[in-house]
Amino acid sequence: MQRKMSRPRAFDPDPDAPETCCDHPDCTLPAGYRAPRGRDNLRSYYWFCLQHVREYNAKWDYYRGMTPGQIENHLRADTSWQRPSWKLGNMGGAGRASFTVDDLHDPLDILKARRAHPSHEAPPRQHAPEPLRQPLALLDLGWPTTLDDVKSRYRALARRYHPDANKGDPRAEERFKTIGSAYATLRAHFTSTENTATAG
Ligand SMILES: [Zn+2]
Repeated sequence: MQRKMSRPRAFDPDPDAPETCCDHPDCTLPAGYRAPRGRDNLRSYYWFCLQHVREYNAKWDYYRGMTPGQIENHLRADTSWQRPSWKLGNMGGAGRASFTVDDLHDPLDILKARRAHPSHEAPPRQHAPEPLRQPLALLDLGWPTTLDDVKSRYRALARRYHPDANKGDPRAEERFKTIGSAYATLRAHFTSTENTATAG
């Protein structure tokens, strides 16, 4: 398809550009690029610097349906021209103009997923009550556990570390005492909660 080259290529400075500065109200760069003032006014141009002609072209859809006068009024009144805060459409090659608020607040869609499935959150990992953590570790027990499990684990460890089985080894005797202390703590916990929960 043969393109009629009656206009300069997109971002080459226009040889017919007047020696004026950019038509953007706050811009003093040389105006090398023309942009039609409106769909129905294609022979009348704004003259912009490269940055502003790009922005203008990107916003072309934004002005669709406005009269050239409305567009011009909008341009003159627009104080946010250089801020990517309003919808720019797709600015060719410029990428996304800015993050949205949603991007910043929920980058992984975590909140969105929770809002969508409030009842499907994984149950929180159960942590043993603080006073039980060391006793459980000493008996190598996880949580939750039952009084029966505590008892059987205690019996096994007590047999292993009983002084009679270790010929007076002081380390075994020390271990036997800590096991007994841990067992007492755990047993007390389960017996004190027997009123509200079956201790097994
Ligand atoms: Zn400019």
